[in-house]
Amino acid sequence: MSWNFETDPEFQKKLDWAETFVRTDVEPLDHLLGAIYDVKNPDNIRLVRPLQAKVKAAGLWACHLGPELGGPGYGQVKLALLNEILGQSDFAPVVFGCQAPDTGNAEILAHYGTPAQKARFLQPLLDNEIVSCFSMTEPHGGADPLVFTTRVTQEGDEWVINGEKWFSSNARWADFLIVMAVTDPDAALPHKRMSMFIVPSDTPGIEIIRNVGFAGEREAAHAYVRYTNVRIPLDHLLGERGEGFAVAQTRLGGGRIHHAMRTIGEARKALDMMCERALSRVTQGERLSEKQMVQEKIADSWIELKSFRLLVLETAWRIDKTQDYRKVRKDIAAVKAAMPKVLNDIASRALQIHGSIGVSTEMPFVRQIISSYIMGLADGPTEVHKITVAKQVLRDYRPTNDLFPAYSLISARERALEQYPEFEALAEAEYA
Ligand SMILES: Cc1cc2nc3c(=O)[nH]c(=O)nc-3n(C[C@H](O)[C@H](O)[C@H](O)COP(=O)(O)OP(=O)(O)OC[C@H]3O[C@@H](n4cnc5c(N)ncnc54)[C@H](O)[C@@H]3O)c2cc1C
Repeated sequence: MSWNFETDPEFQKKLDWAETFVRTDVEPLDHLLGAIYDVKNPDNIRLVRPLQAKVKAAGLWACHLGPELGGPGYGQVKLALLNEILGQSDFAPVVFGCQAPDTGNAEILAHYGTPAQKARFLQPLLDNEIVSCFSMTEPHGGADPLVFTTRVTQEGDEWVINGEKWFSSNARWADFLIVMAVTDPDAALPHKRMSMFIVPSDTPGIEIIRNVGFAGEREAAHAYVRYTNVRIPLDHLLGERGEGFAVAQTRLGGGRIHHAMRTIGEARKALDMMCERALSRVTQGERLSEKQMVQEKIADSWIELKSFRLLVLETAWRIDKTQDYRKVRKDIAAVKAAMPKVLNDIASRALQIHGSIGVSTEMPFVRQIISSYIMGLADGPTEVHKITVAKQVLRDYRPTNDLFPAYSLISARERALEQYPEFEALAEAEYA
């Protein structure tokens, strides 16, 4: 019997420190600075670097990494508990050295990178001296990577890239882009047609056509990028040729669960605000908290958040146990599919309970609702993840050729009577 929902006391002390630190030292940055990825901006350097030093001193820097990459290697459960806290502030992930998409990009560089690639691209990324971009989605389709057309050909000792990518987040601040493109269009297996490349941002031929923003975003950050005869050395291939899908999966597994961990924090913040408002606002002679329909909103939100948190923590525990994202695919897909609804439901109820100020730009709820849609799109749409869950669930079942299911009550009773014939009279009476 090894079920245990307790946090080890030593780590709890670190979480308590992080909770206070994020609230008092990090959250103010959300209201003063621009994009968290603008790491070379003097204001960001001035305010973020000292806080990062404090996090390092507290032993909480880059908690998604193992010791071989300079992290403490706490594992996913502890990371989940920390990320819940970091999800409450925009700047917290960067102050703690674990912001997406750099975490995922670092993960694939660590996994597939050559020593030279790691020295040039991974180390400064881990140190947050630079940021990176993952350039995969194309303007004509993101949910189905098999439609991607960005092409890479080998010419002498160079790869030459041509094509367009869409929603390449943070390309404008990135020192390098990780680009997924077609190398082997005629490969028999469709999933062997693409490869992954590291492309330094200053390579001639990269053009940001425009930066697309979403509602509430401080600076438009999602680049529509055109690659025209972009030439990179052969050693900028990341992983094996034709293994682009495998590399992407390595990256996306972790990314999805880390978003979910932070989403718990974001949803908890909305719930906290909802509760405070319900207890404070008086209308028609009583507090909102005394009205049953408001109580229902609070109860539904708490139950949803608690259930989601347990799903995330159990999935994190499974990753720790198996050390293999592929073995936890169903669970990660389930977390990814559940996440947008939980945040959307709770933020929407918080907005409603706040009335007019709830919809205003003075409150975070509209942005949280947009964020819920982003969670349902980035790293693949909810529908696609639900399909994965369903397919994996169905793998545990077998079809039968029976006209009536074996679990029908009639069949079950017949089997029971075969086992206990002496009860026939009693069973007849029951069904008479
Ligand atoms: C904020 C944000 C940041 C992002 N950052 C990056 C990034 O850094 N790098 C990158 O490469 N991409 C990024 N993306 C792109 C993201 O991966 C895509 O938006 C996503 O994969 C969906 O692709 P699409 O937008 O082209 O939608 P489409 O592929 O056109 O799909 C549109 C809709 O169709 C429906 N749909 C799709 N497939 C199915 C299906 N099988 N069954 C039922 N319905 C379906 C879904 O409702 C889906 O939302 C980002 C997206 C957002 C919103």
